[in-house]
Amino acid sequence: MGIWQKELSIGLLLFLVVSIIGGMTGLFMPLVLVLTLGMLMRQLYQINRFERWIRTGGRTKYPKTSGVWEEIYYHVYRIKKNEKKRKKKLGKMVDQFRQSTEALPDAAVVLGANDEIEWANKAAREVFGLQQSDKGQRIPNLIRFPEFIRYLKSGNYNEPVILPSPINNRITLAVRIITYGAGLRLLLAQDVTQLKKMERMRKDFVANVSHELRTPLTVLKGYLETLQDMDDGESPLLTTSFQQMQGQTERMQHLVDDLLLLTRLETQQKKAECVNVSALLDQICKEAETIHGKASAPARIELSLESDVNIMGEEQELRSAFTNLLGNALKYSPDDSVVKVRWYRSSDTIMLDIEDHGEGIAAADIPRVTERFYRSEVKRIKKVGGTGLGLAIVKHVLMRHDAKLNITSELGKGSCFSCHFPVKRVCH
Ligand code: ADP
Repeated sequence: MGIWQKELSIGLLLFLVVSIIGGMTGLFMPLVLVLTLGMLMRQLYQINRFERWIRTGGRTKYPKTSGVWEEIYYHVYRIKKNEKKRKKKLGKMVDQFRQSTEALPDAAVVLGANDEIEWANKAAREVFGLQQSDKGQRIPNLIRFPEFIRYLKSGNYNEPVILPSPINNRITLAVRIITYGAGLRLLLAQDVTQLKKMERMRKDFVANVSHELRTPLTVLKGYLETLQDMDDGESPLLTTSFQQMQGQTERMQHLVDDLLLLTRLETQQKKAECVNVSALLDQICKEAETIHGKASAPARIELSLESDVNIMGEEQELRSAFTNLLGNALKYSPDDSVVKVRWYRSSDTIMLDIEDHGEGIAAADIPRVTERFYRSEVKRIKKVGGTGLGLAIVKHVLMRHDAKLNITSELGKGSCFSCHFPVKRVCH
């Protein structure tokens, strides 16, 4: 029998007894009233006992009772017990999480909606010099570097920001913010001192080697020119040897020049002046036509200056980038094909398109062509002249001008290299 049927049967039985006694004695109503009051008092007593038990947390074993109340006590006690078990498990998990984040080599800080510190691990306390008492303090008050404050406010956390540690400027940190949940942010800082040191050593090494190669190359080139002047053409072997030696020395000189330019782009402070891009493009196109074009052939470059906006930047750097793009377009397309150069404004960007109808680039090569020394296999096999550094230079120059390079290309049809300059770079 179910608990409720049992409870109901007892009630009915009592009512039956009271009815019989009431019928015999003629006191039916008073007896029913006494029974109802008795039952009510019993329930009130039970409720009172239950309230007292639950008020103390319901953690102790429940008082001895029977019927529905025993069932109620049992279920509440079971729920409480499970909840306690779950809490214990959760607490253990939180402890483990705390211990593991404390042991993390990277600094981690949880930030609140107003940039206040909610929690920081041991590494964060060490590299940022945070104290326990800094909890609740706004992070920009403690890490005051302008680039960090700009990064924090920008809301664009795709790339990390590189900063020195606020307590030891010999430590370099890569700080990154990760957003999660509803508006929560986790600040992570990684010690990149060694990485930066190696990068600096690599740059110094390339710069020094390139610089040191310059003098011997100039001397070699000088002697080669003298020897070529002295060549009377009697030995064809000697003549072709001189020509090849000169070709290779020139190639090496280009390589050294490009490496030095890349090093400068990586290390030198950015300078900014208002560059008249239309005039620059006009000059570059004329020069390119003279260098690459053939005297008898018609002009190949179609220059279309649809905008006269100027760009804030470094003229020499922009000249190198545009010359490289135009040089490639002419070099990698047939001698009788047209190369279109277009300078125009398109909604929120200023664009330079250099479009050729040449051999194009394979889809797999497109993401890699801006890597240093990357040249498609065909170019290597066919020995088409070039250093493989041109597009790396273009990428660096554009990066220094907050611009982006977009490449669209189809094998056999041609390529279009687009430089997108942001409107904020426009100057008058
Ligand atoms: P380089 O031209 O000296 O080899 P770049 O860095 O300028 O070096 O170019 C890298 C590679 O990208 C080239 O070797 C070539 O394979 C490819 N490339 C660049 N521009 C074009 C273009 N306009 N058309 C086809 N391929 C190109």
